[in-house]
Amino acid sequence: MKPKWILALALLLTTTTQGRSAELRVGRAAVDITPAAGIPMNGPVRPNVPLTTAGPPHDPIHVKAVVLEEGGQRVALVVCDLTSIPLAMIEEARRLVGETTKIAPEAVMISATHCHTVPQIRQRFLVKAGEEVRRKATAYIDALPGKMAEAVRMAEADLKPARASAALGREDSISFNRRFYLKDGSVKTNPFKGDDAKLDQVLRPTGPIDPGVGVVSFVTEAGKPLATMVNFAIHLDTIGGEQPSADLPFVLGQRLAEVQGPELLTVFVPGAAGNINHYDLLNPAGARRIKGPTETSRIGTILAAEVLRTQNQLVPMRSTPLRMAREIVRLDYHPEKAKRLREQIKETPRHFDGEVEVTNEGGKVTFDAEVLAIALGDELAWVGFPGEMFTEFGLTLKNASPFRYTMIHTLANGAIGYVPNRRAYPEGSYEADATRCAPGSGERLVEAATRLLIQLKGDSQAKPN
Ligand SMILES: [Zn+2]
Repeated sequence: MKPKWILALALLLTTTTQGRSAELRVGRAAVDITPAAGIPMNGPVRPNVPLTTAGPPHDPIHVKAVVLEEGGQRVALVVCDLTSIPLAMIEEARRLVGETTKIAPEAVMISATHCHTVPQIRQRFLVKAGEEVRRKATAYIDALPGKMAEAVRMAEADLKPARASAALGREDSISFNRRFYLKDGSVKTNPFKGDDAKLDQVLRPTGPIDPGVGVVSFVTEAGKPLATMVNFAIHLDTIGGEQPSADLPFVLGQRLAEVQGPELLTVFVPGAAGNINHYDLLNPAGARRIKGPTETSRIGTILAAEVLRTQNQLVPMRSTPLRMAREIVRLDYHPEKAKRLREQIKETPRHFDGEVEVTNEGGKVTFDAEVLAIALGDELAWVGFPGEMFTEFGLTLKNASPFRYTMIHTLANGAIGYVPNRRAYPEGSYEADATRCAPGSGERLVEAATRLLIQLKGDSQAKPN
């Protein structure tokens, strides 16, 4: 029989280890990726349209990283001021993170803000650029995975005991569904661009917006602000022009720092915003399609106000070990486009199609999409989708999620393009025409995410702290 003190010591050790391992630590970092003058900007990519090149920035752009550690598990949430990130670049960045930190590559979620005033980071769109411009662009592009890994490394080095809390705000005046029924029965995305006089032919939006403002706040044990993550469904194309800019997240960060101090890192992540932008097309006052720094500042300030309003509603997150789960969903290629592709891939079973690797399975053309879910405590979860999800998917997932707070990161760990809902396909117009996903793809991604969230929720209840 063991002496009682051994049993007591064993219990004490177990409790201490559990107590320590379940302690949340958070680190955050930002790495500047503002392009030097002369780097080609994201812009119209058509033959005979000259590429615009970066001049002085309106505001800096960044790779931001938040690293979380709890229960021996570390994860990194990385958000880049880029339009979207090619899969090869994400894979390289994750590999570098795996090599240089204690974070496993699969525990890294790298997403893009879908900001439009940033460099063009796809070589295939630079063929029309001159040699000198291409050289500069290539150097910029090649450095990006290293910058992403560097941000994670710095955030890991910054790990300190922290407290997490979350809240859900609501802002319904700055985002708009951009697909409309016209009076003739057709559907159009952003109808009558350049001809506002015709807007009286517009009947109503085809779908909703998601007014949810997800807020996750990390503070030190003493209550000093570390990082605030803001999740809201809107296309980041409000500033326009040719100067590099992070768009409204820059304004949001400034406003929050004015209130909470310069140490705060604000990380804006767009939610399911495939069919959402900031144009108020049905506004009878006529201010329907405004872009520019003033509008960006106005929208960013309104969003900041809502984030600040939630500060007194922040709910502390309970400590349980961090959990993550992921699923690779094999999606069918859009049948119309697969026809053309099938000719090209007759000879090879695999074919690189811009952003995805297409697999030819006996004539069936497919590609893979990763869904990654991370849970902190039993009330907060993040889900990463690789495409521009229609906003209906965001609403569906938030409703189906067993977590009280579900943050949706889009263009995460991939760039599969627009992911329309099933009913948009027969309606047509921009997103439905542009997508490479077969009808039903988005629904399958949401089902996968729901499965993962239910699994993670179950794990939180199986292992209470
Ligand atoms: Zn877009």
